Amino acid sequence: MPLERCAEKTCTGCGACVAICPKAAITLMPGEGGFPYPRVDPARCVGCGACDRVCPLGEEAALRRPARRAAAAWDLGEGRAASTSGGAFGAVARAVIAGGGAVCAAALELPGGRVRHAIVEDEVGLARVRRSKYLQSETAPALREALGLLRKGRQVLFVGTPCQVAGWRRLTAPFGDRAPACDLVCGGVPSPALFAAYLREEERRAGAPIRDYDFRDKSAGWNFPRVRLAFANGKTRRLPLRMDTFYAAFAAKLSCRLSCADCPYSRPERVGDITIADCWHVAAYRSDYDDNRGTSLLLAQTQEGECLLTAAQAAGETRGLTVRPYDIAHAVRSNAPLRHPLGADGNRSRFLADVLVGGKSLRAATRAYLGRGWFVRAWVRWWMKRLLWVWQRRRG
Ligand SMILES: Cc1cc2nc3c(=O)[nH]c(=O)nc-3n(C[C@H](O)[C@H](O)[C@H](O)COP(=O)(O)OP(=O)(O)OC[C@H]3O[C@@H](n4cnc5c(N)ncnc54)[C@H](O)[C@@H]3O)c2cc1C
Repeated sequence: MPLERCAEKTCTGCGACVAICPKAAITLMPGEGGFPYPRVDPARCVGCGACDRVCPLGEEAALRRPARRAAAAWDLGEGRAASTSGGAFGAVARAVIAGGGAVCAAALELPGGRVRHAIVEDEVGLARVRRSKYLQSETAPALREALGLLRKGRQVLFVGTPCQVAGWRRLTAPFGDRAPACDLVCGGVPSPALFAAYLREEERRAGAPIRDYDFRDKSAGWNFPRVRLAFANGKTRRLPLRMDTFYAAFAAKLSCRLSCADCPYSRPERVGDITIADCWHVAAYRSDYDDNRGTSLLLAQTQEGECLLTAAQAAGETRGLTVRPYDIAHAVRSNAPLRHPLGADGNRSRFLADVLVGGKSLRAATRAYLGRGWFVRAWVRWWMKRLLWVWQRRRG
């Protein structure tokens, strides 16, 4: 039975209700579009109301805070190559771990392609949770584990999408600054069921299982991201993002959760103590901040966020995290989900149903919804962007 307050359009699946339930009466089950929604077992529910108390729905405005400080940041060590943008997350996480804390962040599991939050406390764990995985992660078991650590007096940093951070803050309010939160600027979370269908399709085409997957490979440069699929037969395929069917559907707003279309956290005021994003268009602000290897944007909203930022500066790999002052207004202008929700395509539900219920291949559905020329258009766009970048660099 669905939770009373959870409408499909507004519930974000943050998992706070599942983690707090003292009777384990709530589970997240695949619902609309293959996204997880809380379901209550009436036989177990005792009506204590704990789930209502931690649910962030209706509390969004109270949870948001303006940024006090902005920084452009990049890690000079190995961590940057292993990260999606400048490696700022790795440096923040290392600072917390060095101080005896733990980090709750998202890891991709292969085979299967599930993305789940996990608690990590060392470098090996950190390697698992680095990098963006563009689909909704499962939080609930890790949240329960995190609560256990907090009750033992440990510090736990949570990193996730703003809606997940909202749930984390409501869930961990009694633990104060031992439960800091880092939100990501987020343009929406695609369906886990769609990702699973996509992996199956790509494996069928390649005739081999996928061994490793990178949603945003930087080998052609941070400004020219590609999807990387490494197969068990030793073959590796790299495609400009928009030429990949899963990413193309994401970029066309065909595959995100219903609540993302109207996301109340897509604003300059943020829900985390600290916010991490790609520092898009950083070269227009200072060209020497962009060496094409990745630059992160960091926003600090609270005293705790400022402390994390300072600690991260010292904790970056080998030579530390380079942190440079940045203009908040430029950051907001350059990153759409910092200004407004990105909405959804009018065909979103039909597209997801075609693939998930109708069994249409993602490739055929993408062609049908984006038009026959989508692949070529994406290729031309990628190369034009690349040539323009080279030309601009040569002009200085
Ligand atoms: C679904 C999604 C949408 C995003 N949209 C934007 C955007 O529109 N604009 C923008 O500037 N940045 C966006 N980001 C953030 C961006 O992709 C980078 O994660 C960010 O710049 C941090 O990079 P980094 O190099 O510092 O750290 P990285 O090492 O890349 O670390 C990434 C962090 O994100 C966490 N994470 C990865 N996948 C998920 C997930 N599915 N759910 C929750 N947490 C996850 C990891 O655990 C890790 O903590 C998005 C991230 C996600 C996950």
